[in-house]
Amino acid sequence: MRFDPQVDQFPYFEEFPFEAAGKKSVLEALMEIRNNQDCTLAFRYSCREAICGACAMVINGKFDLACRTMVEALNTSVLIVEPLPNLEIQKDLVVDMSPFWEAVSRIGPYLFSGDQPEGGYRIEDKEMEKIEQYTNCILCACCYSVCPVVARDQRYVGAAALAKLCRFVQDPRDKRPYPRLAEVNAQGGVWSCDTVLRCNEVCPKSVRPADGIEALRRKLLIEKLKRVFRKRP
Ligand code: SF4
Repeated sequence: MRFDPQVDQFPYFEEFPFEAAGKKSVLEALMEIRNNQDCTLAFRYSCREAICGACAMVINGKFDLACRTMVEALNTSVLIVEPLPNLEIQKDLVVDMSPFWEAVSRIGPYLFSGDQPEGGYRIEDKEMEKIEQYTNCILCACCYSVCPVVARDQRYVGAAALAKLCRFVQDPRDKRPYPRLAEVNAQGGVWSCDTVLRCNEVCPKSVRPADGIEALRRKLLIEKLKRVFRKRP
C-alpha cells in the first residue's frame, strides 16, 4: 500500500514484481524492491531479528513482523502489505507511533522500587513466572492496531500498555502506590477492554496481553473489596 499525505488523497495499491526464490523474508523483499525498483518506498525496520518490533505491518491480512515472516511460508504468489491500522500513515508503510508511545508512557512503564535492600533483591522463580510472559513484549503495537476499542476510542490505553503495567505491579519489587493503579481504573483503562482477544491472537511474541488486563481487573477488585471490608464496623 502506498500513501504520501503530501500528495495523495487516498492510499492506493501499487504492484511490484519480485523474485521470491530462496529463503527471503517479507522485509528483505521490501528492501529489494526499494533498492532496485523504487527508492521512495517507505517502511520502518531496525534489528531484523524480531526484537525491536519496528517492522510490524499487515501481511496478507495478518499482523506480524516483516523480518520474521518468510515469503515462502505464505505459500502465495501475491503479497499484500499494508501499514498498521489505528495509527496515522506518515508514508507508505510507516505509521505515526506517537499515540501508542503516549499510551505506554501514561502507565509509568518502570519499577517503583523504593530503597534497595542490602545485598540486592531476590525474586523467587514462582514470582518470576507470573511476569515472564509480559517481559517478552517488544512494543511492536500490533495489539494496539488490531484493537476495535482503540479504533473507536483513542482514550483507551490499549493492551500493550496494560500488559506492561501488569508486568510491573506483579513484580514483588514494585512499590507502586494504589493511586497509581487507580489511573487505569478510570475511563480508557482496564474496563474499556471489550475482551475481543484479538490482541492475544496477533501478538508475535505470544505475550497474551489480555491476560494482563484480566489480572489488573482482578487486582483492582480485590483492592476495592479490601477497602470496603476495612470500612465495616
Ligand atoms: Fe506487540 Fe505483543 Fe507487545 Fe502488543 S503485547 S506490543 S503485540 S509484543
